[in-house]
Amino acid sequence: MKDWSIFPWQNAQWEQMVHCQQSDNLAHAYLLRGLPGTGKLQFAKALAAYLLCMNPQATGACGHCKECELLKAGTHPDFTLLEPDDPGRPIRIDSIRKLNEFAHKTAQQGGRRVIILSPAEAMNVNAANALLKCLEEPGEDTIFLLVSARSGDMLPTIRSRCQQLKFATPKRAEAEQWLALQLEDSSLVPQLLDLTANSPLEAKRFADQGLLEKREALADGIKGLFKGKLTPVELAKNWQSADLTLTISWIIGWLDDAVKLGLNGDPSDLRNRDQLKMLEYLARKSDAKVLLQEREWLMSQRQSLLEGGNLNPQMLMEGVFCRCLEWVL
Ligand SMILES: [Zn+2]
Repeated sequence: MKDWSIFPWQNAQWEQMVHCQQSDNLAHAYLLRGLPGTGKLQFAKALAAYLLCMNPQATGACGHCKECELLKAGTHPDFTLLEPDDPGRPIRIDSIRKLNEFAHKTAQQGGRRVIILSPAEAMNVNAANALLKCLEEPGEDTIFLLVSARSGDMLPTIRSRCQQLKFATPKRAEAEQWLALQLEDSSLVPQLLDLTANSPLEAKRFADQGLLEKREALADGIKGLFKGKLTPVELAKNWQSADLTLTISWIIGWLDDAVKLGLNGDPSDLRNRDQLKMLEYLARKSDAKVLLQEREWLMSQRQSLLEGGNLNPQMLMEGVFCRCLEWVL
């Protein structure tokens, strides 16, 4: 845990927490909720450091005291960050049970204990009930920071035990300004933000992981299908080991835009204007009703992936690309 800075669009939430700390009015559990890519986990880490620090400033933890040094070294005995063992999988009930013991020990440094859980919706009912028990009988001076982009999926009884801190997507100008400072090529900023619904961290991930190029390759592959240069089976081979959730999301985005374009013919509010030619072709060759049905089908496949369903990647992508071909028959 090295970086304890917050993002510029989180100042209001930060001031609120500083005020609670200074007026000795902290709740024992907070739910940090809001859309993905708004930096909630980083905020939670900065807040944990601030709450544990012996010499906290309004801008954050001092970074030098014993508590800060322990935290930086990853050996602070009164801090826990609980995440799933594998990304995209649930937090295990054993981990929550251990957490319960941790929450009830006396703080070894004589101050608070801080526990971060992220993502807090990633647990089954048994684990969630075990967590609820922790929240109902908190140890003295224990503060829980639950982080969730899908707080609607959490047990309502857990939600209601937490004070809520909501994180909205920053305003476009704020997101542009921040992202431009992070990228070597700031000319990509508008396109990246269009593609990620103005989520600056998601946009940065797109840039860092070369996802714009991957998306372009996917569009080229689908155009190749339309022109008969490739078969669905051949194209699926290139995509079976990709991030399928994201790949399918891109195709869903293109369908959305093709439907819009077919209905009003106006390209100015499309999110995928760089693919205008393909979108126009789709809008011309296909019926909006068919495209909307296809969108539903793709969304159900994506949901199965998100729920950890056991889909065969090659078969899934062959199915997707076969259907793409049918749109333009
Ligand atoms: Zn400190």
